[in-house]
Amino acid sequence: MLTNTITFLGTGGGRVVVFRQLRHSGGMWLNFEGVNILIDPGPGSLVRIFERGLDTKDIDIIVVSHRHLDHSSDLNAVIESATESTKRPLDMLVCPEDVVSGEEPILLKYLKQGIKNISVAKEGKTFEFKNVKIEIKIRHIHSGAETYGLEFLGKGKRVVYVPCGKFYEKMLEGYSQGADIMIFNTTFVKPKGNILHLSAKDVLQMINTYKPKKAVITHFSLEMLKSNPKAIASWLERESGVQVIAAEDGMRVSF
Ligand SMILES: [Zn+2]
Ligand SMILES: [Zn+2]
Repeated sequence: MLTNTITFLGTGGGRVVVFRQLRHSGGMWLNFEGVNILIDPGPGSLVRIFERGLDTKDIDIIVVSHRHLDHSSDLNAVIESATESTKRPLDMLVCPEDVVSGEEPILLKYLKQGIKNISVAKEGKTFEFKNVKIEIKIRHIHSGAETYGLEFLGKGKRVVYVPCGKFYEKMLEGYSQGADIMIFNTTFVKPKGNILHLSAKDVLQMINTYKPKKAVITHFSLEMLKSNPKAIASWLERESGVQVIAAEDGMRVSF
């Protein structure tokens, strides 16, 4: 059953891993109380959706955390497919402004008519679709792209997505406690001063602060793959006492 699961279409992160496809990319397919939400459709998303037995026509909402290509490159292809070239409109797109407007938007103009509701993310905003609420939590610090962490709420369940960005104090205040599942884009093992991505060390602080029921790490760089994400997940689990899973391509996690 798909209800209340996340399917990891890809788990790669960073230039080398994504653009040499050392791991798949293409984001995550979240089924939340029957609503299908595609998150961060990066390279290969369209292919991976069908490869995993899913169907673009079932997508209700697409969420783009930020415009970097590893999170957005297949946005147009997926919308073209999901809407049969805008004939069957998609219910909702949630994304920062620079994905849909400005000098160099990601979304092609002609596809806008294929989306019923383009919800522009800003800190503190909430969007609703059927029984699902999407809360835009904190703005991340992430090179050149407006980036937001998000939470999904249904009847009694909460899913938290912590996308890419540099660790800073607000990350220990801006999200909710005790989520059913918390997903972390854990690009590196240790913090790297000038690179604006989370490390496993940062993620440990967040898990200890927020105590989710379950945590998943994904979006791995080459450094992370060399250190073995499963070993890093075990370390996080030992240190925090929270169940931590290292995502694998195609893995489906329920919550
Ligand atoms: Zn990015
Ligand atoms: Zn990224």
